[in-house]
Amino acid sequence: NSYVVIKAHIDGSPKESDFELKSESISLLLDSGSNDVILKNLYLSIDPYQLNRMKSQSSSQIYSTLAAAINPGEAINGYGVGEVLVSGNPEFQKGDLVVGLITWGEYSVIKPGGMLRKLELMGFPLSNHVGILGFSGLTAYAGFFEVCKPKKGEKVFVSAASGSVGNLVGQYAKLFGCYVVGCAGSKEKVELLKEKLGFDDAFNYKEQTDLKATLKRYFPDGIDIYFDNVGAEMQEAAIANMNLFGRVAICGVISEYTDSGRKAAPDMIDIVYRRIKIQGFLAADFLNVYADFISTTCDHLRAGKMHILEDISTGVESIPSSLIGLFRGHNVGKKMVQLSDT
Ligand code: NDP
Repeated sequence: NSYVVIKAHIDGSPKESDFELKSESISLLLDSGSNDVILKNLYLSIDPYQLNRMKSQSSSQIYSTLAAAINPGEAINGYGVGEVLVSGNPEFQKGDLVVGLITWGEYSVIKPGGMLRKLELMGFPLSNHVGILGFSGLTAYAGFFEVCKPKKGEKVFVSAASGSVGNLVGQYAKLFGCYVVGCAGSKEKVELLKEKLGFDDAFNYKEQTDLKATLKRYFPDGIDIYFDNVGAEMQEAAIANMNLFGRVAICGVISEYTDSGRKAAPDMIDIVYRRIKIQGFLAADFLNVYADFISTTCDHLRAGKMHILEDISTGVESIPSSLIGLFRGHNVGKKMVQLSDT
């Protein structure tokens, strides 16, 4: 069983040498009375928040047990899907496909109380359950509909718009009847947003010298909703262009994860006078809309109204470069690693 660990805590941008692959044999026999479940891991979701867990002073455990600090040398867990090989837990049988918190490696041993549930494929490939029908999808759906509370015709700006959450926010917003502009970090990504995903407009933020002026050009009548995936200067520029009673959903601040000195400092006077509502959120808070999210998204997919963007690497050894790539803009859509065939 090979699995990935960090060699030391990571502060700043992650690099390949921060990680190593460990190998140990794994017994596929359970002790009598054990309630463990042993999985063959199939797909692992690669998520930006994992880097925050790897920092020397990780504060993440204060907020969420799902995001507890990762220590050097210890097995890492993350969202993913697997197949049950052996089960001492009566809820799961050999051959079941499951989704939950799996190990960054080839196999997972899930202890009683570990986050795991049976997966119903509903006619969609396994990888879709890691992305569009998994946490990225729920994040986009809940963040847009529950936090941003859109009205038809409103003007929406999405950052990291070609990424896993961002592309889905844009697609939901278009289907709902909003005007949507996204930003991304390359010419190809901008083309993709406009040509394939149906964004009304898009721009490459790396080519801009004055983000406030850029947003003024794309939103001459102001922004009603900003779905923030990146933080820092982009957040400041978006808030400076918000309309009265605008809403800002802070989904994540990826540009701040690799640089702790870089923080958004929006103008508070703008927020007061324009009565802007800013709300951070976690997808896990919105399990109440999970059934609604799944049925709406499956309907859109079956009707051919949503595109699926998946970016899949293969093999446990590609986990570190996949995580690193998120912070360098290498991925297009949902980044995941396929760990084994079904
Ligand atoms: P993405 O698929 O969007 O991948 C990250 C993307 O961010 C990259 O492709 C890159 O695209 C962009 N990026 C990287 N560094 C920077 C930077 N310094 N400035 C601007 N853009 C950058 O990841 P996810 O969709 O999984 O996550 C998006 C955001 O949502 C993250 O902030 C994440 O932490 C957050 N999140 C929050 C959740 C919640 O429950 N609140 C759940 C899931 C994710 P580009 O080429 O455009 O630069």
